[in-house]
Amino acid sequence: MRMTNATMYARVLASDASCNGRFFTGVLTTGIYCLPACKARKPKPENVRFFPTCEAARAAGLRPCKKCHPDDFARGADPVLETIESLVAEVRENPAAFADAGAIVRRSGFGATRVFELFRLHYHTTPADLLVRARVAAAKRQLLATRAGLAEIASGVGFESLSVFHEHFRRLNGLTPAAYRELRSDRTFEVALPAGYPLGYLRRALSRDIHSIAERLAGDTYTAAVQLSDGPALLTLQLSAGFIRAGISREVGAEAHALVVGLLGLDEDAAAFSRLAKRLGLARLVAGRTELRISQTPSVFDGLLWSIVGQQINFPFACLLKRRLIERAGKPLADGLSAPPTPAAVAALEPADLLPLQFSRQKADYVIQTARLIVDGKLDLAALRDMSATRAERTLLAVRGLGPWSVNYLMMRALGFSDCVPLGDTGVTSGLQALLKLEERPDLDATRRLMAVFSPYRSLATAHLWQFNQPIPS
Ligand SMILES: [Zn+2]
Repeated sequence: MRMTNATMYARVLASDASCNGRFFTGVLTTGIYCLPACKARKPKPENVRFFPTCEAARAAGLRPCKKCHPDDFARGADPVLETIESLVAEVRENPAAFADAGAIVRRSGFGATRVFELFRLHYHTTPADLLVRARVAAAKRQLLATRAGLAEIASGVGFESLSVFHEHFRRLNGLTPAAYRELRSDRTFEVALPAGYPLGYLRRALSRDIHSIAERLAGDTYTAAVQLSDGPALLTLQLSAGFIRAGISREVGAEAHALVVGLLGLDEDAAAFSRLAKRLGLARLVAGRTELRISQTPSVFDGLLWSIVGQQINFPFACLLKRRLIERAGKPLADGLSAPPTPAAVAALEPADLLPLQFSRQKADYVIQTARLIVDGKLDLAALRDMSATRAERTLLAVRGLGPWSVNYLMMRALGFSDCVPLGDTGVTSGLQALLKLEERPDLDATRRLMAVFSPYRSLATAHLWQFNQPIPS
């Protein structure tokens, strides 16, 4: 997607950080080039020239700005971000070494306010929440890999008591630590739903594409053909108020469980977002669905494929392309269901294979090139989830074919980041227009401004806005 000079200039006036790295702004009168988000005084349009890279700007005789350090950004250097990332890596490696959020603040070398700001900006969360999740993740690894007792595991990862361990574990995983351990051998398991979980919205999310050949919702039975780390499998969910019963066609319980937690959005902080909406005087945004979650795509690659396939076309046509791609490169399993294609299967295609399926030339190129990046080890999808949101966003924006909309969509639907806005999304703008009774749909800058109040829960705000103009599901 090439941006016009006028678009780029508008982004510069808005100091749009999501454009950093996408182009560089040269100012002929000062001889300096900048990142689009540079806070220095804005140049007049007639003095600006845009460059795709730092090298091109330097070749035109310009020098890097000393305020925004465009070369450092282009190299990926960002000292403050790197400090926070290594701190988070330490927390995740050994959560028991941090008694509480205060210990994280002390270890950081920054002041408390600054640390909270940096965690919110780069990880979309608080130090305390990140610490609890790190403890639970460490406990899950030990439950699967060791025979250690629950009390030993709880204290080993830093929980002050077995009951606090249980409480956080159940909240984030929908089952007890003991039941989680059984996933080593089980092919069926039950996941408890939080009180008020809006099953109608889940049904809607799971049946959006009624002609899908990868998933099917019939009554209260949802079946999906999914790709797991060691091959395709059939996943079945029995939906009911209070709990979900899951079954998987192979002994891959823990991996299937992670997938189900994602589909249900169990580890998202829905209640906190609803409290925020009410505090803002916007209770109507969450009315009847205060526990709404974002249903995560079965795999990151699924999310990536659909964010490219769905760009700039209507929903039914996106579903059609999706179906044809699965028919062409997916894996038939049973009952007419086929698992979505793996990166290797897509990488093996040529654009000529996709053109007869009604892919545009450009879409075909993007889909195949992205799959090849993954197969060649140049794009590590598994690593994205553990990255800071900032790093994940930069990594994805560097992929050809992924613009700010796709990247933010992917981050909220496939990577579980909680503070993303797919800017330019018509569901978001029409939702905001109706919610705030605006005369017209907000443009990009107005959308960014209006969404800022929902930080750090802008992903859930987006999900609610998508539903705001929709009929209430039964
Ligand atoms: Zn600058």
